[in-house]
Amino acid sequence: MQISAPTTPEQWSALLREHGLRATEGRVTTLSYIEAHPHTSAAEILEALSGTLPSLSQQSVHNIVNDLTETGLLRRIDPPDSGRALYETRTGDNHHHVQCVVCQRIEDIDCIVGGAPCLSPDHTHGMRLLEASVTFRGVCAECEHTHQANREPVGSAA
Ligand SMILES: [Zn+2]
Ligand SMILES: [Zn+2]
Repeated sequence: MQISAPTTPEQWSALLREHGLRATEGRVTTLSYIEAHPHTSAAEILEALSGTLPSLSQQSVHNIVNDLTETGLLRRIDPPDSGRALYETRTGDNHHHVQCVVCQRIEDIDCIVGGAPCLSPDHTHGMRLLEASVTFRGVCAECEHTHQANREPVGSAA
């Protein structure tokens, strides 16, 4: 788990300009929100920010996250079964994810061994590897606890 000070709006504005994007209020607010709530979907961003930014629409949030993903300020992940793309500001380190198969919560997994791709397949079919996309799947402690209380088998339905 990384503990670092949150990026200020001024720092996000500077980063946006470094990446050739205008530092609009929508982009800066979205980046700050995702940094505080990693693995967030576009729908969740819209719901959380529409109070502060009434001009935000489903389409503008999609445009914002797409632009930020293209320039590398956001990373997009598509976990199995979640049916939606999730975004995070932790980019460029090829970290992996663990997903609870019951409540779908997602947490970061740091790479065990340094740089990407962090995993070495036995055969690459002649391809030069850039990264590995791994989602570990399991049952979180809270779900395990709930199911034990209800005496239901855990994980068998997935
Ligand atoms: Zn869970
Ligand atoms: Zn992550």
